[in-house]
Amino acid sequence: MSVKGIPVAEFDFDLFVIGAGSGGVRAGRMAAAMGVRVGMAEDRYLGGTCVNVGCVPKKLFVYGSHFSEEFENAAGFGWTVGKSTFDWPTLRDNKTKEIERLNGIYRNMLVNSGVNLLDGRARITGPNTVEVSGQQYSAERILIATGGWPYVPEFPGSEHVISSNEVFYLDQFPKRALVVGGGYIAVEFAGIFAGLGAETSLIYRGDLFLRGFDQEVREFTAEEVAKKNISLRFNNNIEKIDKLADGSFLAYLTDGSTLEADTIMYATGRVPNVMDLGLENISVEQKASGAIVVNDQFQTAEPSVYAIGDVIDRVQLTPVALAEGMALVRNLYAGKNQQVDYDLIATAVFCQPNIGTVGLSEEKSRELYENVDVYKSTFRAMKHTISGSDEKTFMKMLVDRDSDKVLGVHMVGPDAGEIIQGIAVALKAGATKAVFDSTIGIHPTAAEEFVTMREPAS
Ligand code: FAD
Ligand code: NDP
Repeated sequence: MSVKGIPVAEFDFDLFVIGAGSGGVRAGRMAAAMGVRVGMAEDRYLGGTCVNVGCVPKKLFVYGSHFSEEFENAAGFGWTVGKSTFDWPTLRDNKTKEIERLNGIYRNMLVNSGVNLLDGRARITGPNTVEVSGQQYSAERILIATGGWPYVPEFPGSEHVISSNEVFYLDQFPKRALVVGGGYIAVEFAGIFAGLGAETSLIYRGDLFLRGFDQEVREFTAEEVAKKNISLRFNNNIEKIDKLADGSFLAYLTDGSTLEADTIMYATGRVPNVMDLGLENISVEQKASGAIVVNDQFQTAEPSVYAIGDVIDRVQLTPVALAEGMALVRNLYAGKNQQVDYDLIATAVFCQPNIGTVGLSEEKSRELYENVDVYKSTFRAMKHTISGSDEKTFMKMLVDRDSDKVLGVHMVGPDAGEIIQGIAVALKAGATKAVFDSTIGIHPTAAEEFVTMREPAS
């Protein structure tokens, strides 16, 4: 067999993966385990965004940020906790040690699986060639798994802001923090800053954050987040930032007010990481955002070049990048014809309390189904009956009355992500409301509420 006149065996690699992040590592390891000759280039950090400046360090910070309220909650249970203080360098550096441990595990895993790992930036030079650190490599197929990069709008003073790339390595923890944006990262980091003791404001340009989530979930979350000493400034934006003599910043807001802060973090979305990738040397198609267009086999318009993960901008989540990588490898090298099912992807926002969600929002359900029953429940978790906390939990379930099928399940409350994962399995299996009703609950838990919601609220 030959590709463009070159016999396949004469290529340096069967598959050259650009980017050792969630998707690239999974695809590369799986392919190598099948005997495919895999080359992989990574120019920054093994494990990609998720391991280094995403899911993993973020979740460690989320854990850290919960202690302050736990210390307060403890009093109602008879505990006297001494004066607590928070030491940022301890959290930051313990987190970094853990990330470095994971980087080592990734290196071993890749090398042991037979992947030929190249440290350096890769640039595509043709349909079957890639350059890394001045050296050309040929491959029968190239996989672009380069992920995304924070997008920060430009405005006077925007050079003073940080993104999620820098927030994990701050020299000093801010006394006052501003977070701009209304998506996952902004809401999670507002909770982290506030929980770790910063006076925190979240500035969002629209009238309610978390666009795309169920409206009541958004409203309920806003109420709960506001209880955690986070000042929510909706319908607002930053016009200009001045640096003050003491090194802090003065932000001028569109509503005419000003805010002083020690750190201003922008979480205003992420763009596909295709900068200087050499895409002009091949014939891939891109969307206006730069995202690489692929077919349902993750193949670009250049038949030897494939792309997965955040760079194709379908769903920017680690488990989705993993699923795409696995489907690609099974289809290319194990004779399968597998499609990734993007339906019913459960997600969590690790704010305080968490949001866990799977399936349709009420608004989307009503758009798609004629008769929708809405079941919901708002309550104080048992723990808070004596903790003194006024935190509430919210649960909601959307059901198609005609088929009894459960269309969506949403929760805002402690461990919502953990709870919704199991419910996602039920929804994937096509569970009806009758199945939920016939399930015996686990008592006493918050999760049992999902199997005891009897009367529709509307
Ligand atoms: P990445 O993991 O970004 O990997 C791409 C890799 O390619 C990087 O290592 C990069 O250095 C490398 N690279 C890029 N260009 C080149 C080149 N030219 N040559 C060589 N190497 C290159 N998702 C969740 O599911 N749950 C979460 O809780 C969660 N939290 C997040 C929190 C934050 C702050 C952020 C930013 C993201 C979070 N995500 C979360 C999203 C998740 O991190 C991404 O969806 C996931 O990492 C995408 O994987 P990927 O393989 O597409 O890209
Ligand atoms: P999102 O796309 O989720 O949110 C971006 C936010 O920034 C939106 O609220 C958007 O407003 C706002 N915005 C965009 N441009 C501007 C601008 N010029 N000025 C002011 N505001 C602006 O991006 P994130 O950065 O929060 O996260 C990126 C992705 O990473 C997420 O979508 C998610 O897929 C993934 N992620 C997942 C996590 C998880 O699973 N827990 C955690 C963190 C990230 P508007 O709504 O008006 O467009």
